Order: sequence, then C-alpha cells, then structure tokens
Amino acid sequence: MGSIVFNVIKNIGSRLPTVHLVAVSICVVIIGITLMLVPSEKVSATRGDRPESGTLQQDTVKLELKLDEETDTELLPTLQDERLPSDATSSEANEQPEDPTVTQVPAEPVENWVDYKVTSGDNLSTLFKRAGLTALDVHQVIQATKDNKALSRIYPGETLSFLIEGGELKKLKHIVSPLKQVLLERDGDSYRTESLEREPSIQHQFAQGTIENSLFLDGSRAGMSNNTIMQLAAIFGWDIDFALDIRKGDTFRVIYEEKMLDGENIGTGNIVAAEFVNQGNVFRALRFTDSKGNTSYYTPDGNSMRKAFLRTPVDFARISSPFNLSRKHPVLNKIRAHKGVDYAAGTGTPIKAAGDGKIIFRGVKGGYGNVIILQHGQGITTLYAHMSRFKKGLSVGSRVQQGQLIGYVGSSGLATGPHLHYEFRINGAHKNPMTVKLPHADPVPKSERAAFQSVSQTLLAQLDKYASTQVALAE
Ligand SMILES: [Zn+2]
Repeated sequence: MGSIVFNVIKNIGSRLPTVHLVAVSICVVIIGITLMLVPSEKVSATRGDRPESGTLQQDTVKLELKLDEETDTELLPTLQDERLPSDATSSEANEQPEDPTVTQVPAEPVENWVDYKVTSGDNLSTLFKRAGLTALDVHQVIQATKDNKALSRIYPGETLSFLIEGGELKKLKHIVSPLKQVLLERDGDSYRTESLEREPSIQHQFAQGTIENSLFLDGSRAGMSNNTIMQLAAIFGWDIDFALDIRKGDTFRVIYEEKMLDGENIGTGNIVAAEFVNQGNVFRALRFTDSKGNTSYYTPDGNSMRKAFLRTPVDFARISSPFNLSRKHPVLNKIRAHKGVDYAAGTGTPIKAAGDGKIIFRGVKGGYGNVIILQHGQGITTLYAHMSRFKKGLSVGSRVQQGQLIGYVGSSGLATGPHLHYEFRINGAHKNPMTVKLPHADPVPKSERAAFQSVSQTLLAQLDKYASTQVALAE
C-alpha cells in the first residue's frame, strides 16, 4: 500500500513545482486512505507498475474493477488533473497545511516543469511567449532542431513542457502523445535533442453481451470500443452476416488487449479470443502468431476463420442481376445465361481481388469491356468485367493478394450502367458466386500445431473462466 502512494508521488514530483508537491502529496495520501478502504483487488488495478498480465488471476482482478465503474472514473481523473497542470499558478497549494507523511519522500532534486497545452493557432513563438521566454530562445531552439526537425510540427492537443531556471530555458519537452516525447536539453548556446518512445504494457480485458438490438449497440453496452466491435465483426464476418443473420438472444464473449501506460488505459489492441453464438451455432476464434510472425484467427481446430475468397469483391454494392442460367439479356434482349453476379455501384468504386492469385488476363474482352481474370489455387479463376479502368502497376503475371485493389467499377463493353460483373469458375465451370462453397484459407501449418495447441487451450480456458466469473459476480 505504502509503495503505491510513494510511486504516485514520485511520478508527480518530477513534473510539478515544490508547492504543488505538498498539495498533491496530501491529495494522494487521502486517495491512499480511500484505497485502503476498498477491496485490495481494486488497489492493485490502479498501480502503474503492474506487469503484463499473463495469468487468469490478474485478469480477473481487472474484470472486477471494470464492474465497479465508480471507483475507476472518480479516482483516475483526480490524479491526472493534478499531474498535468495547464497553468503554472495555483493559490490553493500554499494554503494546505504541512503533512508529516511528506517527509517520507526522499529529497531528490525536483525539477520545476511547466506545461502548456498547444491550442489551435499556437506556434513556438506564442507558446514560448506564454512561458515567459524571448524570441532569442525561439531562435536558438529552431537553430538546434533545424536538421532533425524535432519541433517543426506541433499540433493542438499536444503539450510543450518547459524547465526554466534563472530565466534560462534548460530543458524543453514536446509531449506528442503518452507514448512519444522529444526532449531538448541545453548544451551551451544550443540544445541536444533526444527522442523518447515508450511501449504500453498489454493486459487482457473481457467483455460479453447478448444481442438486443445490433452488434454495435450491444457491443458498446458491454463496454467494447468501436475498434473492438469492428474487429469482432471482421473475425466472424466470414461465417455470419451481421446485417441479416444475427438474432435477438445471440451472445458474444471477447478477450481483447488493453494498452496500459502508468496505470492508465490508453486504448484497445487486438482481440485475442472471441465467441459468437448465432441462432444456436457456436463460433469461436483464436488469434495465433506463428514462428514466422504471421498472425491470423483460427477455429479451435486450427482452421482459418478466413475463407480463401471474398464473397463480394466490391463494398457497398447491391446485386442488380443474380447468377441465372436462363436470363433474358438486358442489352441483347434475348435469352442468354448470366454466368456471374452483377453488382451495381458508382463508376470508380474500388474492385478487390477475391482471393490471392495471379493475373492471367488484363485487357478488353468483347462485351465484357475492360476485364481482369485471376488464377487462384485449386483450379479456381475469378473474372471482373466492365471496369472503368485498371489499377496502375498491374499486368499479366502480377501476383495479387486477397482484398487488394485491382480496378474500378465502370460500364465498359455491353452494359446499361456502371456495375461489376463477377464470375467464379472451378476447373472452367461457372459457379454461382453467391452460393458456391468457398474454401477456407490455409489452416495452422503442421509445424506450428503444437504451439497453436498450447495457445488455444489457454485462451479457451480463459473464455470459459471469464464467463463463469461474470455470472458468479452478477448473482
Ligand atoms: Zn453480368
């Protein structure tokens, strides 16, 4: 307990005037006492020096903190506000009585840093002036950084922190983000520049919910960020159409990364494990990085969550003409099989390669207009017609990856309006792209199976454990 208070004080001490240190120390001591009154799990969750959580026990602790939102939101802002003063002056600090506990803090030299938040319209001159510095100081700093361009761009929301002693600028910190700072240190009449980058620690967070409205609304209600919700939709998007397939009562559970810096949550990272139960069908996905550094999501059996082909190679398009072997052609006005699917979309809409493959045709092909044909594995080819133009830099023989831009929707050839005509063939035979069974992308390679087993067992156990913990807490 004592060490927590001490850590926080030390942290603040390096950035605050001495008078502030007294006030803040008192504040921290009071918080410290408050923390002693709440269960110990919550205390450990506010510690900045918490190691990367690997065990379930630690993660469960975080889960409990999450459920007690009051503790979370009331404590952290208090600390943060004191730590980042936007102005150097403060009257309350002097009025606080001495507290004997302050003497326990070791007397290390306290640097008198003053922070200024960059606002719209600010530049180095306005900020230096606010800090009481002169045009000569600005000039010296610009001279010192003209090669490395350290201070060439400052944006609203960032912070400039000044250490001024005896009217002389000793150090200047450009705080770009919690993860990135540039430090300038006086060296005679010039300044040494040092770039300081920090890595956040990663801990696991858990969320679960039941669909009442939509994945977005119910995901938000479960405490998931937009980023996490989008990832969840992308991971299961190969199996579940989140616009059409989901039903009230469907459930989801997610374990995702949370980026922590000095005990504060600074954003979410990747989903590491997830489950979605759709109309009674259970889908589970686990994130795995193989020894070559390739990361993908797999089923517990080691099959890829991804299919080898996109169902639809254009986004935000509607089907204007389905696959139909006895269709009356709209331009030729006679029965002619429609051996593909038409997607109506505006001219210029990007067209993506449905799967990894190689370009075997790129050019004009009669009524198809501008066409690209891709050769994939397993005797599969895909064809994209009526393009307005091709993506530059691609030619016959070029390798493309799934989702890569290959051209743009148009109405070249025989077309009544801009659309993509898309065909899917297996060994030369046309298949309906909407219903053909799409092969999965590659499973976990044999050589990586043992590593995958170990990762997947841990993650699956965590998914189950979290879920039961949550139920127990709710009761
Ligand atoms: Zn067509």
